[in-house]
Amino acid sequence: MIYLDNAATTRMFEGCVEIIREYSCYDFYNPSAIYYSGAEKLSLLNEQRQYIKKMINALSGDVIFTSGATESNNLAIFGSQRSGNCEYVFSNGEHPSVFNVAKSLEEKGSVVKFVNLQSNGQIDYEDLKNKLSSNTRLISVMFVSNETGAINDISKIDEIRKQICPKALLHVDAVQAFCKINIDVAKWNVDLLTISAHKFHGPKGVGALYVKNKASLKNIVFGGGQEFGVRSGTENLPNIMAMMYAIKNIDIEKNYDLVKIKRQTLINILKQDEGVKIREIDGSPYILSVEFSGINGETLIHYLENDIIIGIGSACSSKKAGNRILQNMGESLDKIKSSVRISFNAYQSIDEIEKAGEIILKAYQDIKRRVS
Ligand code: PMP
Repeated sequence: MIYLDNAATTRMFEGCVEIIREYSCYDFYNPSAIYYSGAEKLSLLNEQRQYIKKMINALSGDVIFTSGATESNNLAIFGSQRSGNCEYVFSNGEHPSVFNVAKSLEEKGSVVKFVNLQSNGQIDYEDLKNKLSSNTRLISVMFVSNETGAINDISKIDEIRKQICPKALLHVDAVQAFCKINIDVAKWNVDLLTISAHKFHGPKGVGALYVKNKASLKNIVFGGGQEFGVRSGTENLPNIMAMMYAIKNIDIEKNYDLVKIKRQTLINILKQDEGVKIREIDGSPYILSVEFSGINGETLIHYLENDIIIGIGSACSSKKAGNRILQNMGESLDKIKSSVRISFNAYQSIDEIEKAGEIILKAYQDIKRRVS
């Protein structure tokens, strides 16, 4: 089985298992306990926060450990909510864990604005200017799109913010970027940043939210006041340490170059058939959006599923009709129906990718023949 749906989730590094065992069965103490073995775990957690801060070049602020990106996104948005004349601005390309929070704010009566996407998948920066005002409290825009791989220019968003609403908070969902593409929260003036371990070979159900200024964030669950009072609940130390193992074992630059080669190898094979249209997005090499004209993307996915796993876009939104993001980029329903998402990791061999390319191409041609 060749797995090419790494934007949905990745295979956990084997080494994480040993770490989970260690911090579940042996060094399992509660970081909030007052005795030495507990306090030692709290210091260990604090060291990990510093490590993540360094990775994203955070010169100040804190890292709050969460149950993953869905929670981090909910905390970033609901936690930033304030009463009064506050407006909230989101891109139309956001993952459901941001988009549906935005919809919920709207339903409860907040002023919520959505920024359109350009045909290249990036947000429309002119539209962003139109949607911001001096009342904007929060701007939430993802770094790398989980659907297309498009990369938003966070520096540019910060520049626009400075002109119109310098006090607005900037939240970035960096789930598809962290451990893949370098992140610089100091340079980009990011206030809140979301990451999730299972997207970079760590365990599922663990992630983090970086917050520049804790005072800007209110807790959304109530309890014992862990994680600086912002996220109550005993920290999931085994999974946090396993996430850190993954982080510490990834070479971002080396992996980036490897994935670029794999992507190009696959593109070269698929392009042999003119019906295959690679979505030309100047973005992350980890994600490839492809249209197989004349056939249904879902048919291809099921045809392949015993040999190769590819995705239809966000697993979280795959049950919904159509694709909100491609639609917002101005794509026709026909093209959207024929689209699939192929996403890579750095640890597969070129041989596997070549084999996958040939099998996908043959499958496409076979389905095309049957439907025509
Ligand atoms: N944001 C993005 C961009 C994602 O791709 C995902 C996972 N599909 C999430 C958020 C949600 O992550 P998690 O599974 O950790 O809740």
